[in-house]
Amino acid sequence: METIEKRQCGSCGGRNMVMDTRDKEIPYKGEIITIMSFPGWYCPDCGESESICGEDAESFSKKIEAAMKEIDTRQALELRAIRKRLGLNQSEAADIFGGGVNAFSEYERGVRQPAKSTVLLLKLLDQHPDLLPEVLTAGRTKKIHRSTRQRKTRPAGE
Ligand SMILES: [Zn+2]
Repeated sequence: METIEKRQCGSCGGRNMVMDTRDKEIPYKGEIITIMSFPGWYCPDCGESESICGEDAESFSKKIEAAMKEIDTRQALELRAIRKRLGLNQSEAADIFGGGVNAFSEYERGVRQPAKSTVLLLKLLDQHPDLLPEVLTAGRTKKIHRSTRQRKTRPAGE
């Protein structure tokens, strides 16, 4: 009878870890990349998995990279579409959302990733373009008034 190679699990110490393939879900920028039949060591006792090395691992990491790139490109195009719907050019958008004069040119070419807050604000404005004048006004404020009020205290350790 053929023996299946097993190894010790680094997590629970059990000796039943076997080489297997599973579908792997990788969260990336608010989306899920699903890789079918991802090879690795899997522990049936605690559910721990360890990735494999070598050619297989390389081809799978290339697949993941390609999927990430696809998401980057799609999100860059979406960003551009929203900016245009809001009637802003790249430099106006950079003026409002920050990130430097070339920020939007770089985001839309996929050279740089926008901050999550920028993406959220753009999506919010896309749904509620009536808020744009308010954001414009807020963005134009140059003087910062320091509040003398004490900030709400947060629990220690946060
Ligand atoms: Zn285990």
